[in-house]
Amino acid sequence: MTDYKIINGTVLSFQEGAPVLEQKTLYIEDGRIAFFPAHEDRTYETVDASRRLIMPGLVNMHTHAYMTLMRNYADDVPFQEWLFNRVMPVEDHLPTEAAYWTSMLGMMEMIRTGTTTFVDMHMYHRQSALAARDTGMRAFIGRGLVGEDLYKDGYSRFSQALEEKEEFESGRLRFILSPHAIYSCSEKLLCQVAEEARKHHMLKQTHLSESVTEVEDCLKQHGKTPVRYLQDIGFLDSETILAHCVQMQGDDLDIIRASGASIVTNVASNAKLGNGIAPVPAMQAKGINVCIGTDGTASNNTLNMLREMNLLSLIHKGAGRDCMAMPSDYIVRAATYNASAALHDQQIGNITEGACADIIFVDLDAPSLFPNNNIISSLCYSANGSEVDSVMIDGRFVMRKGELLTIDKERVYHEVEKYFDHVKKETAQ
Ligand SMILES: [Zn+2]
Repeated sequence: MTDYKIINGTVLSFQEGAPVLEQKTLYIEDGRIAFFPAHEDRTYETVDASRRLIMPGLVNMHTHAYMTLMRNYADDVPFQEWLFNRVMPVEDHLPTEAAYWTSMLGMMEMIRTGTTTFVDMHMYHRQSALAARDTGMRAFIGRGLVGEDLYKDGYSRFSQALEEKEEFESGRLRFILSPHAIYSCSEKLLCQVAEEARKHHMLKQTHLSESVTEVEDCLKQHGKTPVRYLQDIGFLDSETILAHCVQMQGDDLDIIRASGASIVTNVASNAKLGNGIAPVPAMQAKGINVCIGTDGTASNNTLNMLREMNLLSLIHKGAGRDCMAMPSDYIVRAATYNASAALHDQQIGNITEGACADIIFVDLDAPSLFPNNNIISSLCYSANGSEVDSVMIDGRFVMRKGELLTIDKERVYHEVEKYFDHVKKETAQ
């Protein structure tokens, strides 16, 4: 494995959560960051990072990478129509092996726009793990779980999730349990998942309070909000990651804060599907750990975290008529540093001695970023993703000077088109 000495760069790190910019040399040794060389005689490849910002790679805390083939496939339709009549029929006809290529397509966009780690919720045995293994991305892979009983109708997916964990788990690939939502999983199954997650030391992620319909149905069925319901059945804890949390009511945020769970906000997906705007400023005020996700491209329709960061800030300034809401330092922290607490991993989301070398190089001479009056602001308000010049994950370049090193773009496009033509024919019948 090549070791690197990165010189002349401007380094963005976080000290107690606050962003700090410094000119400093970084050493990358065995995939880890060091501020000083380990040995005088160690050999490094020197990387000149003049006019580059070196920052922690972005962490996309909620996505469905395999869904990337459905980009712009079902737009401008109601949520229930979108999910049940458009997305699910495609999933029903997509061959398992196709999900390798569609996941890889998603990872291509993520790397290109500066994401180094993603948390996936997928439903195709092994494909997400295989694609992440081959692209070199860091991934927390969650098998989507649905049904009444984890040990009966949910068993094949659950056992496959454990098989994937057994086969692929490493420092770079980790596995979580992902019950889809309270409306697609029974109370029994959710309790079983919580129990198995504790038993296997796995994190769990679920969609929660995404739409008004979900909340109204839960109030009718259980007489309580989805958040209270999950709390009462013992599902919520600090190992829980809650995607969406758009329709918060009453003491929902207090319950989440007390549980120690983290929230992933997906502002573009929520807006595009007409589900509303999550109360992120209130989450921030409560001290809840908030991270950012793109959701899948069927509902976003991009996996570009920089666009998500921009939208998250602007939508709250506009909707709340408050230009001080969601400042850029909070947004940049939510897209990087906050993932560390949610994922219980001190080695990601920051540039510190001994951290995983998951770093991106941003071109400070890009027209969209120049002049560099305020680099933190520029990441939130000016960057569009094209400024990402190079991406290193686990000490290995996966993109260098704009060239993808682990993905054959033409092959991916060919395979995705081939499989999607097949699916369209099948769903038309
Ligand atoms: Zn989702």
